[in-house]
Amino acid sequence: MNILNNILNINIQHLPTQELLLNHPLNIRLFVKRLDLIHPYLSGNKLFKLKYNLQHIMQHKYRGILSFGGAYSNHISALAYACHTLKLDSIAIIRGEELKYQALNPLLQQAQQHGMHLHFVSRDEYSLRHDDEYLQQLQTQYPDYFILPEGANNQYAIQGCQEILTPEDNHHYDIVCCAVGTAGTIKGLISSDFNGDILGFSALKGDFLTQEIKLFTNKNNWRIIDDYCMGGYAKSSKILEQFIMQMQQEYQLPLDRIYTAKMFYGIFDLIQQGYFKANSRILTIHSGGLHHHLNQQA
Ligand SMILES: *Cc1c(COP(=O)(O)O)cnc(C)c1O
Repeated sequence: MNILNNILNINIQHLPTQELLLNHPLNIRLFVKRLDLIHPYLSGNKLFKLKYNLQHIMQHKYRGILSFGGAYSNHISALAYACHTLKLDSIAIIRGEELKYQALNPLLQQAQQHGMHLHFVSRDEYSLRHDDEYLQQLQTQYPDYFILPEGANNQYAIQGCQEILTPEDNHHYDIVCCAVGTAGTIKGLISSDFNGDILGFSALKGDFLTQEIKLFTNKNNWRIIDDYCMGGYAKSSKILEQFIMQMQQEYQLPLDRIYTAKMFYGIFDLIQQGYFKANSRILTIHSGGLHHHLNQQA
């Protein structure tokens, strides 16, 4: 349990918050909670999502964890490191059968070096990842493994993500912004004590996320914005690449192209459109997704 505590206490209490000086005529102020600085492997929101999952798994003495992800999944990368450190076995079901015949990308290579077993499956099989019968089959095949959903998106993850916001944040900020994938993170923020507005910038097309969150909560201080997914999940563009360089130069703020760059692009666009009231204090959650330790772009 000591190693677990060491992992779980990394920097969480003292996350630096950076202000991006906008000199906006309406005195809109923009702050960034730098979860990306927590740890090179357990970066961003992923540590919060794993926290109570790992606690549960250690307490119940599972042999290992089985989870799901795409070839560039930050969740898989974080999970591999956590399991390695806690001496748990790990299995990842990875989307894309064709990857079996290709060289592993740096992120999957790293996961494998951390002892994770990678199972590449077809998109059809991957689409069964929430199917009860399929999960039951996996559980029978791996009886002493804890099956963790894609993106660790379960009740424990939501519980962990509530801790991204502190009681002080409630006093300091009017609005919180985060990037949204599986929506575990924003569900945590919504169920925290924060009572300002919560804006989720979706990295995916479609409003199914809004429907899903409506089923999760009765609160209505939140909104999913999917105008900035820029063509869909993991799609990039020259404009986005340029924006990432600009944010680095102007604010020394590194952004990933799948989640945080699209969120910040959206926030700046909404500021320009006059979406936010005068004197708004906006807190954005930098959820990580950077892989400096890989020395290559993953
Ligand atoms: C995983 C991830 C997200 C999405 O979090 P969800 O809880 O799945 O919505 C956002 N940003 C980054 C950098 C991520 O790695």
